[in-house]
Amino acid sequence: MQRSPIKHCKQCGTAVVYRLPDDGDTKERAVCPHCNTVHYENPLNVVGTVPHWGDKVLLCKRNIEPRWGKWTLPAGFMELGETTTEGAARETEEEAGAQFEMEDLLTLLNVARVGQVHLFYRARLLSDTFNPGSETIEARLFSEDEIPWDEIAFRTVKETLDRYFADRRSGHFTIHQVNID
Ligand SMILES: [Zn+2]
Repeated sequence: MQRSPIKHCKQCGTAVVYRLPDDGDTKERAVCPHCNTVHYENPLNVVGTVPHWGDKVLLCKRNIEPRWGKWTLPAGFMELGETTTEGAARETEEEAGAQFEMEDLLTLLNVARVGQVHLFYRARLLSDTFNPGSETIEARLFSEDEIPWDEIAFRTVKETLDRYFADRRSGHFTIHQVNID
């Protein structure tokens, strides 16, 4: 999910060069040699939920690359103009077709290597019937001992599920900050 580098200036279309800008900035940036626009690249946010029903959580089998056929929690890139909870709820509707009520933040995961911050909220399911969208092959509920740990699509999802079940066992939910190498 690493973004490819900027190739062309968004202002004038000229091929950019990566160099230190002239303003004393200490990081190389994509600089336009024609109009001098500096293009800053910053981390993206991925937002999702841990939808739960009794002692089970909802996982979605991915119908898209990367990790086609692997299981994941509903999550995706935030859109401009929405809050983190709105984005997480939208992804849960799109990928699982679930009915739910949003709850508190569970994990904040820094994935610095690819320039991403992932946020997962707990979400209380209001029904155990799902109507997944085209990005999902199947949406189904798993108890902790049914989770296909070797078939989980992303480390962020595995870490989030670990925290969810640990908190559930302890009877106290809190917010976990995790740094993924
Ligand atoms: Zn330019």
